[in-house]
Amino acid sequence: MKKMEQLYEGKAKKVFKTDDENLYIVDYKDDATAFNGLKKGQIAGKGVVNNKMSNFLMQIMEKNGIPTHFVEEISDRETVVKRVEIVPLEVIIRNIAAGSFSKRFGVEEGKKLNCTTLEYCLKNDDLGDPMINDYQIIAIGAATKEDLDTIADLTFKVNDVLKDFMRNYLKDLNIDLIDFKIEFGKTPDGQIILADEISPDTCRLWDATTHEKLDKDRFRRDMGNVEEAYAEVFKRLGL
Ligand code: UDP
Repeated sequence: MKKMEQLYEGKAKKVFKTDDENLYIVDYKDDATAFNGLKKGQIAGKGVVNNKMSNFLMQIMEKNGIPTHFVEEISDRETVVKRVEIVPLEVIIRNIAAGSFSKRFGVEEGKKLNCTTLEYCLKNDDLGDPMINDYQIIAIGAATKEDLDTIADLTFKVNDVLKDFMRNYLKDLNIDLIDFKIEFGKTPDGQIILADEISPDTCRLWDATTHEKLDKDRFRRDMGNVEEAYAEVFKRLGL
């Protein structure tokens, strides 16, 4: 596998072409941003944690019948993934109120929601990733009805697997999955698969006993011990 020219540089990752037209290489950076790029910084070692954690969890998803873009980890920060066209949606699941949900609806952070909640945001930095509903998504052609149904089904499954993994897999990691954001891609042959990453950048993870935050909120909210929180999740996962 040969790493070829850079295709794209995002906030937390770079994507490179390879000599196989159906494969890309993702390279995870330590750069961190929040509030649509307004706050910028670095979290030492984050790229390694996110690469390895995401790869580990993607393989668990595969074992549970959820197709993903994961192919092979080739270094601490680099992974070979399947080429997909990203569906321009941030797909969010909430088990417990936090962040923008708490703010928007006036619900106290930490309140268990009466039902698992699915939300979509349109991936568009210029528009500030606005919230969007199913009808609006189909109306503007961000996804077809069929693809959106697949995305919703897979997302609830990801939540079940991930939640279970944090509390019941091999041993109890004593982490509560508050909420998370995932993204999907479409392969050249039209299959919807899980893409992007699953990491403390994209999940809210709280210690189940102390409710201590073990995720990017420590960076967003200047809470300190950011590196330590990422390292703690890494350690609990046994990575
Ligand atoms: N999230 C993300 N990228 C974003 C926005 C949110 O990964 O651009 C994740 C975030 O880490 C949290 C979940 O999605 O786990 C819900 O975030 P929320 O809508 O509460 O927004 P935030 O409070 O992060 O602005």
